[in-house]
Amino acid sequence: MEANGGPRAMVFAAPGRYVQGRGAIVGLGGELENLGAKKPLVLSDAVVKEAVGEEALDVSGAIRVDFNGECSPGEIERVAKAAAGGGADTIVGVGGGKTMDTAKAVAHPAELPLVIVPTIASTDAPTSSLSVVYDDDGAFKEYRFFGKNPNVVIVDTAVIARAPVRFLVGGIGDGLSTYFEADTSSTTRKPTMAGGAPLSAALTLARLFYYTLLEHGVAARLAVEKQAVTPAVEKVVEANTLLSGLGFESGGLAAAHSIHNGLTALPGTHHFWHGEKVAFGVIAMIMLEERPAEVLEEVVDFCLTVGLPVALSDIGLEDAGRSDLETVAAAACVEGETIHNEPFDVHPEMVVDAMLAADAFGRDRRAIVEGSARLPVVAH
Ligand SMILES: [Zn+2]
Repeated sequence: MEANGGPRAMVFAAPGRYVQGRGAIVGLGGELENLGAKKPLVLSDAVVKEAVGEEALDVSGAIRVDFNGECSPGEIERVAKAAAGGGADTIVGVGGGKTMDTAKAVAHPAELPLVIVPTIASTDAPTSSLSVVYDDDGAFKEYRFFGKNPNVVIVDTAVIARAPVRFLVGGIGDGLSTYFEADTSSTTRKPTMAGGAPLSAALTLARLFYYTLLEHGVAARLAVEKQAVTPAVEKVVEANTLLSGLGFESGGLAAAHSIHNGLTALPGTHHFWHGEKVAFGVIAMIMLEERPAEVLEEVVDFCLTVGLPVALSDIGLEDAGRSDLETVAAAACVEGETIHNEPFDVHPEMVVDAMLAADAFGRDRRAIVEGSARLPVVAH
């Protein structure tokens, strides 16, 4: 995490343009024209082509490349070769977090303009200047920092609403961390992902995001289950994508994302998505930090209502023993992890205990509200 602007400077990073709305994807050609693109490389996968529609991606001069499914060093190199070989002058990433992160990792080192078209609202990847790179087997490998953000982000809410609702709920889980991590980072003032000290604009956006989720999260989930686009859906999609993206990048990360990264060391969690593991990471972070009891209850009850994990068994770890959690905690605490942005020294045994306590509290809370819980954890 290099601090480009020095540790004392504050940095706010954002995409050049953010476009969101029902049918927004029809604007892709015009945005490319504004960028002067003659030969855009369009990276997408088969599912995405179906969701978005062939003609939307059929922009003039396009070199079409199918994404292989993992944002790994090998895949980044393969797409970069296709871009160089085809003489691409712009990169367009259409799809989920890993497709977008691959597009960033190809565009930025080659100094090409970048357009991101997320087809799901499951992570805050679209607006940011970094990629999360995984091994071919799906374990977290590294962050790559590029020091610049996408030129344009186009979010078509009709496309988002047609995707399985689990994506939207996952994005809510990822976003839930944004406020807590930005809040913690604002007290320790360690460098953020944007490479400077956190600033209050980012914390304010993160706070707005948290209250948007509490207010509209359930309504948005219910609407998207019917593939409906409503003002609540627009608000939650904007929150998941823009507010969370700006909030985490310029506001700072802390324990929740490190615990997520640690969780990916256990193969049992690989069927669960980033935001689902992050949601559990938030509960464990609150345990680690000892925030007020009402905050803990508010977060866990919200997770139960909207259908996010609150226990280890919800993220594939029903049989995890203490030694498994020690593996997670060791990975979460390696040097350079954002868990060290917490305002106290964090040791792995504290993280193991926080996860055990989070799991116990989550299961207890579920038992209490079981009779009135309206929505089960989203099936996968
Ligand atoms: Zn995240």
